[in-house]
Amino acid sequence: MSMSSDDGFAFILPLIFICFGVVFLIVARWSPNSALRWGLGYLSAAAGFATPGLLTDLPPQFQASLADLFFISAAYLNSEALLLHFGPTRIRYPRLGFAAVAYAATIYAVQYRGSLSLELILSDIAFVVLMASPLFFVWRSAARPYEKLLLVMVGLVVFNTIFRNIVFAAIADPGSFDRFLQSSYAYAMQATEAILGMLLALSALASVVLRAMDGYRDAAERDPLTRLLNRRGFEAKAQALRRSHAATIIMCDIDHFKTINDRYGHAMGDRVLVAVAEQLDALTTKTGFASRFGGEEFVIAIPEGGVVDAEHLANAMRLAIAELEWHAYGIADRITASFGIGRTEPTDPSIHDAVARADAALYAAKAAGRNRVTMQQNTMTRTAAFRMISAA
Ligand code: GH3
Ligand code: MG
Ligand code: MG
Repeated sequence: MSMSSDDGFAFILPLIFICFGVVFLIVARWSPNSALRWGLGYLSAAAGFATPGLLTDLPPQFQASLADLFFISAAYLNSEALLLHFGPTRIRYPRLGFAAVAYAATIYAVQYRGSLSLELILSDIAFVVLMASPLFFVWRSAARPYEKLLLVMVGLVVFNTIFRNIVFAAIADPGSFDRFLQSSYAYAMQATEAILGMLLALSALASVVLRAMDGYRDAAERDPLTRLLNRRGFEAKAQALRRSHAATIIMCDIDHFKTINDRYGHAMGDRVLVAVAEQLDALTTKTGFASRFGGEEFVIAIPEGGVVDAEHLANAMRLAIAELEWHAYGIADRITASFGIGRTEPTDPSIHDAVARADAALYAAKAAGRNRVTMQQNTMTRTAAFRMISAA
């Protein structure tokens, strides 16, 4: 992204990049890894753009070499930010080594060959290699739309830099090159470059901020032990569901869980919770969502699922839990759970009516001896009788 200093963007670009750098450093409080690198990267790029304007007393070669140091550092930091956004940093030493060699080459071009055009090409090659190499590692990890946009922007900026060099190379004659730099086409190219640079910064900022927000929402709406939705997460998802769909609610409660805690300790109780949650989640993923409502109580919502499906599903869950093998953990007892099923009705003000029906059905399952599935019998009456679906 290196640009000659004598263009119309010489003043505005450093200011904009300083703003981005500062905002990234502020955001780094919440999202330390990548935001810190983006911040330092944009400040470094701003320093690169500002160098020729600020250090006018220095000989041009030194201005150019100092600016290159800032630009190549910026490219390295931003490539590091890109990798860290999606996971661990990769090929750090090869990238550092490449950046150092590229910088040495630009010094050679400026100080010994006196060629500013060679220097420009070399620093562009450094930029392209450093920014494009992370794409190879992360393009599969971009799950969210804003992350895909970020990678597209990186691709566009890289492509634009390559394209500019091809155009410059095509104009081999220095005389026509000078005329070209005065042309409105050259101006449009520089404007495009500046705009792409800012759009890249914006999409990086959006990615960092939205990723941090997603993280906080996840922490607020998920149970840290089982990784299922917690009650808040369930409410958020169920509310959206209730507006448009009928739903079936399955409520699950582990049988005699207090005894498991008392006999084998709280830590073993936690392990049982995790194992039960895994079974419920694995059997629900395709049809609905499972949540840990509290303690050893789980609530599963199945949007528009037929009640027969829910009976089937609950029974499969019951069997999956009962068949878990606990001998390896020193638990001799079989661990079972009871299930109650309730349905939403068109007149229900909220999903909680169906949850209450499932809860009442669960209570009936417990009373009838546990390790069974009970369904709300008559959907039209609140004081429904309960039909036993399966007994142990
Ligand atoms: P029932 O068959 O009637 O459901 O009997 P129960 O013992 O499972 O029922 P109860 O609701 O009395 O016991 C629930 C127990 O779950 C009590 C509480 O100590 C335990 N518990 C709640 N949350 C956790 C947790 O996060 N970890 C562990 N290990 N135990 C928990
Ligand atoms: Mg229980
Ligand atoms: Mg309970």
